[in-house]
Amino acid sequence: MEKWPLGVFASIDAGLGVRLEVAHELGIPTLHLHAPSAARRTAEAAAEFQKRLDDYDLTVTAVFGGFEGESYADISTVARTVGLVPPETRSARLAEMKEIADFAAKLSVPVVALHLGCIEENRDSTPYREIVNLTQDLCGHCAGNSQALHLETGQETSDGLLAFLGDVDRDNLFVNFDPANMILYGTGDPIPALQQVGAYVRSVHCKDGCWSNSPGVDWGQEVALGTGDVNFAEFLRTLNQIGYAGPLTIEREIPQQPERQRTEIGNAVKLLQGLRAELA
Ligand code: MG
Repeated sequence: MEKWPLGVFASIDAGLGVRLEVAHELGIPTLHLHAPSAARRTAEAAAEFQKRLDDYDLTVTAVFGGFEGESYADISTVARTVGLVPPETRSARLAEMKEIADFAAKLSVPVVALHLGCIEENRDSTPYREIVNLTQDLCGHCAGNSQALHLETGQETSDGLLAFLGDVDRDNLFVNFDPANMILYGTGDPIPALQQVGAYVRSVHCKDGCWSNSPGVDWGQEVALGTGDVNFAEFLRTLNQIGYAGPLTIEREIPQQPERQRTEIGNAVKLLQGLRAELA
């Protein structure tokens, strides 16, 4: 694969990403796929989907798990509802995440990824140990499929993330680095964070955002790539420094405005192509 192929976050059914047709029309060769609902994760559905991918010349480089009942309404709601951390839904979601990994395996996709949720910071606490154990369990399942697990960044600081990766201590555990999330959640300046966790970064989201007036308390705002507080020239220079050559996967989270989403992703493609020509 060429260095830094472009990618886009996409979905099969009612997910967060763009439709496959849009990726194809924009000439984007790779996808991060938002996992489809359970009914669309059968062997037959996977085979049918694989055919559409082949028709459009698209390669899925990672499948992202997401769950019923998650809400990104504000930071405290995220802490209560997102990922594998909330105790009420934990065991059911862990089982579902393993099913999602098995669906990815049917498509021969070697990476599954997710937001784990807001991990308790005290490393000596029981809630923290529980999430370490659960992540080891999920890594073991992925290893059985010859897959890596990528953790989406943003809900913790780079120090917290590094400590967690060390505590889980599995050789198929890596990071999907999303610079905008660091800004939206107010967890730190993305460029030094990327340098710090660089050795673990195996996929990235090219998403932009603006800091809120009260970082970590109120949401920042996700915006079109190139119009926010992520410096993409600096981001790509830093990816060069850490030796990252994988896909640049554009993410724009406005699925309720498909026309605008398509236009803005088209602009992001041009911007990233320009930077790539300069820096790759
Ligand atoms: Mg992301």
